Formats: sequence, C-alpha cells, structure tokens
Amino acid sequence: MGRWPEFSRSAKLNGIGVSEIIRIGAEARNLAASHDDVISLSAGEPDFPTPDNVKLAGINAISTNQTRYTALDGTAELKAAIRRKFRRENGMDYAENEISIGAGAKQVLFNILMATLNPGDEVIVPSPCWTTYLDMIRLAGGMARVVACSEETGFRLSPEQLAAALTPRTRWLLLNSPSNPTGAVYRAAHLAALGEVLRAAPHVGVISDDIYEHVLYDTAPFATMAATCPDLKPRVVTVNGVSKAYSMTGWRVGYAAAAPEIIAAMAVVQSQSSSNPCSISQVAAIEALDGPQDVIASRRDAFRGRRDRIVAGLNAIPHVHCLLPDGAFYAFADMRALLARPELKRRDIADDAALCRYFLHECHVAIVPGFCFGGPGYLRLSYAASDRMIDDALDRLKTGVNRLLAG
Ligand code: PMP
Repeated sequence: MGRWPEFSRSAKLNGIGVSEIIRIGAEARNLAASHDDVISLSAGEPDFPTPDNVKLAGINAISTNQTRYTALDGTAELKAAIRRKFRRENGMDYAENEISIGAGAKQVLFNILMATLNPGDEVIVPSPCWTTYLDMIRLAGGMARVVACSEETGFRLSPEQLAAALTPRTRWLLLNSPSNPTGAVYRAAHLAALGEVLRAAPHVGVISDDIYEHVLYDTAPFATMAATCPDLKPRVVTVNGVSKAYSMTGWRVGYAAAAPEIIAAMAVVQSQSSSNPCSISQVAAIEALDGPQDVIASRRDAFRGRRDRIVAGLNAIPHVHCLLPDGAFYAFADMRALLARPELKRRDIADDAALCRYFLHECHVAIVPGFCFGGPGYLRLSYAASDRMIDDALDRLKTGVNRLLAG
C-alpha cells in the first residue's frame, strides 16, 4: 500500500512509544524465526497454562451464549466474587458500587488516571518501575514525579522521600508491591510509615497496584495500603486482576476497589472507550476467584525454586550482582561493575541496552535492559521459564560474559 504523506500523529503521543519490552519481545521472535535456540527471559507473564477449571468455565460461557454486552464495568456476579476475594484474602469490605472491572489491570489503571488527572497534576512514582505508568500519566495529561529508590533501601520508597516529593499538585502516590521489575515488597510496617506521611496530606490518594500479590515468597503476609491504614481507605484505589495469579494474561480481566465517586468516574472513561470487559472472560474470572485456590501455592513454589536458581546463577557470573527478590517473577541484576570493565568499553558495550543487544545476538538470550524501568545499568530477567531454559540461559550468559572479558 502507498503511504499517506499528510498523516501526522496527535501531539498527545509525543514522547510515547510502544513499550520497549514489547519491542524487545518482537526482536527476539524475529531472531527465533531463523534460529531455533533463542531463549526469551523478557516476558512479563507466567509460562503456566490457565487452570483447567477456569478454561472449562470459559468454554461453558460460550456454550450457554454468555456472549453479549454485560454491565459496563463488570457483571454483578464477578463483582460479588471480587468482593469475596477482598474479604477473604485482604480482610477488606467493599460494596458493589465500589468495584470496577476492566480489560486487565492495565486498562483499570488507565481509567483511574484519565478520570482523575488534570494538566499539571502530579503522580509520585517510585522507580525503578513499570514504565507504562509514566506513559499513562503523560497520556492522561498529568506529570510523573519519579523518585529514584536505590538497592540500599531494597528499592523501596522511604517516608522521607515521600515527604520530600509531595507538592500541592500531588494527586496520587502509585505503589506497586511486589514490584515489577525489582521484586521489592512493601511490608505492613513500610506502608504504615508511608501512611503516616499521607495523613498530613489529605489531598493525596494512593493507587496500589497489587497485581503480583500472589507471587510472594516469604512468610510475612501480603500487605496492602487500604488494609494496613483503614483510615486512609477512602482515598486508596486497590488494583488487582487475574492475569498473574491464575495465568490468565490473555483473558484480560483486571479490577479496582475504591470509593464510589472514583469508580463512577472510571466508568465514564470505560463507557466511552472499550465498554464492558469480555463477557466470557468475566465468567472464567469468577471460577478463578471462587474455585480451588491450590494452583496459587503450587505455582508460587515453582517460581520460588526458579528465583533461587536464577539469582544464584547470576551471582556466579563475574562482576554481576543480584539481590534476592521477595516477590514477582523477575531478577533485577546489577551489571554496573561489568559495564565499567575496560574490555567492554573496547567493544563499545557502554550501557545496559548495548549489553542486552549483545546477549540477544551473540548468546540468543532475550533480556530487557534496566533503563526501560528507570534502572540503567541493570537487566531484568523474567524467570517465568522452565528450569532447563533458565539453566541454559545462565550458561550462555556466563560464557558470553567470559568471552567479553577475554577481550
Ligand atoms: N501492573 C504491573 C506492575 C504489571 O507488570 C502488569 C503486567 N505486565 C500489569 C499491571 C497489567 O496486568 P494486566 O493488564 O494483564 O492485568
């Protein structure tokens, strides 16, 4: 087809591109088309299939013609299952008009920001973070106030950093625990300390992205702001979904719990964009939330074994250092000492992006550079992959690094 020379993009898209992670995934797939040994550790999704009972519920929804438009922000039945989930797992009570369901947590987050931000409004985002947040905030007309959180504080925002980042224009603090990409987890004590700062700033709400709630490894229970600080609950939006907990990324169901006025504003955005989330997926999500839950523990145990494997393997590579993450399924490895080596400089491998290109093209391992998450000098390796793939990838990375160091 010919081109349309007069076409120009909307100014709204200035500085916003397709996610770098998606781009790297596509580059890896292209390479895989001609080389059958490419290992991708770039995906942000569990490699397990959707559980059979959930698949059957979806098939049954099709067979029984549950294939029409549903209520705009989700069916009453799924909202009831979500309310049961919040009660059972988080000790939180929400009414039906305090629940909103969209096509994934991603759409739900977009709805919140579109429904609440005015030009110049600020959202505090601890970094490294899922950079989709930053693009969404910009698309919604707001400004991200990115606060760098270092490895020394476990990649967590401190109360002092929060207090220093607050301004009269701050609308939200956006928390993500367990975190993509660092795996950092905020315990109840961390949240309580942040809550103390927020009590003195009644104009600031909290968006709590809990999508990795069930990919949490140690014994301390999962903590979320609205449950830890119940007095702040009216200004907390809790976001969650079935993608990561039940291996349902493709079904596209995410949800939020918040005060009714926030939920109603989100419904306006959804009403004029996508309308209801997929009717079939909503039926399947009810089965996921209400059905047997043992799949969560067994998959978490599998992820824990892979985490230990990949972190030990990374730390055995010269000049590579990786913290043991407490949650999610990513290792966030510090490559700065390696990148500082003269042997790499001589080969023009000066940053994490160049190192990822080397690993992809020379070792056939796809990894996402840390700069994509506001963590230059780091690499994010997803361990949502089999033990064999992880071992194979680690071998190749080690060989690749040794080759670089040998000059
Ligand atoms: N939040 C974070 C931190 C994520 O990593 C993702 C998925 N990559 C999402 C939200 C969105 O999940 P979904 O739209 O599949 O529910």
